[in-house]
Amino acid sequence: MTTARTPETVTVLRDVRPWGGEPVDLHVADGRIAAVTPHDPAAPQSSGTSSGTATDDGVVDGRGLLALPGLVNAHAHVDKSWWGRPWVSYGGEATTQGRIAHERAHRDELGIPGVDVTLTVLREFVRHGTTAIRTHVDVDLGLRLRGIEVVREALATLGGAVHAEIVAFPQDGVLRRPGVLDLLDAAAAAGAEHVGGLDPASIDRDPVGQLDGLFAIAERRGVGIDVHLHDGGDLGAFQVELMIDRTLRAGLQGKVNVAHGFAVGEVPPSRQADLVAAMGEAGITMTTVAPIGAAPLPVHALRAAGVAVGLGTDGIRDLWAPYGTGDLLALTTQLARLSRFRHDDELVTAARVATSDAARFVGRDVHDLVVGAPADVVLVDAENVPDAVVRAPRRALVVAGGRVVARDGDVLV
Ligand SMILES: [Zn+2]
Repeated sequence: MTTARTPETVTVLRDVRPWGGEPVDLHVADGRIAAVTPHDPAAPQSSGTSSGTATDDGVVDGRGLLALPGLVNAHAHVDKSWWGRPWVSYGGEATTQGRIAHERAHRDELGIPGVDVTLTVLREFVRHGTTAIRTHVDVDLGLRLRGIEVVREALATLGGAVHAEIVAFPQDGVLRRPGVLDLLDAAAAAGAEHVGGLDPASIDRDPVGQLDGLFAIAERRGVGIDVHLHDGGDLGAFQVELMIDRTLRAGLQGKVNVAHGFAVGEVPPSRQADLVAAMGEAGITMTTVAPIGAAPLPVHALRAAGVAVGLGTDGIRDLWAPYGTGDLLALTTQLARLSRFRHDDELVTAARVATSDAARFVGRDVHDLVVGAPADVVLVDAENVPDAVVRAPRRALVVAGGRVVARDGDVLV
């Protein structure tokens, strides 16, 4: 395992254009944005800043580049990739159960979960400007909580370059594997911020049972719930309704997320409108991985109803599929295209989904280029935000917690 280098600390990130606006200087203290002042081109510039390298006093020249908040990957699986390893041909069947079985048969030989592979994935995220993640981590009868320990060790190695919340994820089912519910409870007691679920109907064949189990843990431990829901159509919508009922009854508004939720994009318009409104009233959120081939989520309607939408890479290059990269901005382009966004304000919305509006998915009150926010900044050479979303240009500089963690494609942690 390679150990992390100590990144440069930033005191001033000068001459950047937040969200494509006028040039400013971002002043950083204690890892947070302490002040935002208009950039004065006539002000004396410290030597050595022309390449974007911090001087001894921590001044970094942003060269007038477009600044966005650090990207937020709201649905990742950093414990189960083979990124950076020799090619692994997919050999499983094309069903959820087939993928689960394939993964369980081959993960040991790939060293999954392992600190090294997790670090490789995290660095790929950092390279592309992601500074905060919500990652699902497998919890099952074989691994128990070892995957979570692995992920925590990898995150610690990067010294805070990636802020993370963990979902204890029952990839192999909950009730159909007696003992898993207890493991989820133990994970929550040990600090996992959320307990996960998986297709309560089609995997456990007991949607009420799985959801009651998850909600009991959430109430007992004060954690959130984040359920992978691939079940589509009426079956999926029915499970969303079960989650709405339980969220309201338990007073867990704002703490329950539906991941994927293909059903929300699939049901007829009138049913969709009722479902979206009810989700908004219950404070339920959604995360999508912008999958090609699925009915797109009604992003505008969800947001208008108060349903926060987050974007994530899902697993990248893992035993479920060889697809995916660590580039969340490229995935933002995909979300925009799948959502048929064309207008500038829609493209800005896509960028907000991938950054500032995703604060809640990583346990932050604010994640933006404003005073008081964590100093997580991505610089790109783009004319404006729509241009950045459409082209996903190379990340020129990535700052996390007030430290330079990547520059021009080189990861510095
Ligand atoms: Zn997932």
